[in-house]
Amino acid sequence: MDRRSLPIVTDAPDAPEAPSEAPAARAPEDLAAALRFLHLLATQQQARTAELSASLYALLETLIAEGRLPLDAYEKRRELTVARENERTRAEPGVSVYDVPDKYALTALPDIDCAALLPLCRARCCHLPFPLSVQDLDERVVRWDYGRPYMIARRADGSCVHNEGGRCGVYQHRPAVCRVYDCRKDGRIWQDFAARIPAEP
Ligand code: SF4
Repeated sequence: MDRRSLPIVTDAPDAPEAPSEAPAARAPEDLAAALRFLHLLATQQQARTAELSASLYALLETLIAEGRLPLDAYEKRRELTVARENERTRAEPGVSVYDVPDKYALTALPDIDCAALLPLCRARCCHLPFPLSVQDLDERVVRWDYGRPYMIARRADGSCVHNEGGRCGVYQHRPAVCRVYDCRKDGRIWQDFAARIPAEP
C-alpha cells in the first residue's frame, strides 16, 4: 500500500481533534512526496519548453536558409537545434535522477579492495557529485541535496554526508552509482592505479 496516498492518522485512540481552522500537521514523507511531484512537474515543463524552442528555431532557420520548407532539411536542422538546446539547458538548474530500477540486482560490480586503498585514496570517490535513483528516494535512507534535487547530499568540504572517515554509513543501501563506480581509470582519483599513485588533490 502506498503510504503517501493515505491521510495522516494517529495511533492514539483518544487524541484530541485539531481545531477545524488549524491545518493538520504533515509528516515529513508527505512533504518529500509533494516536493518530488513538483520537481518532476518542473522537469516535464522544462523538457516541453526545450522541445518547443528547438522546433521554432529549426523552422525559422529552415525558412531563412531555404526560402521554403522541405521535410528533410527541416528534420536535419531540427536535430541540430535540439542538440544545441539540450546543451544549453544542461547548464541550467534542473532535476537529476539516476536511471537504475534496482540497485540490488546489479551484477559484475568492480572488485576493488577499498579498505586497503583508503590510506592512499582517502575516499576521494565519496567527494564526487551524483544523482540518486527513484529507488533511493523511496527507501528514504540515503540523503539528497534539497537545493539540488536529487543529487547526493554533501558537506561543505564536498564529501558525502554518509562518509564516516572513509567508511560508508549506509553501505547496505548505498546508491547504484557507488556500487558500479570503478575508480581505477578515473584521473580524478588515481594518477596511476597500478603504481598506487593517487591523483593530485
Ligand atoms: S553513499 Fe556511501 S559509498 Fe556512496 S558516496 Fe556516500 S559514503 Fe561513499
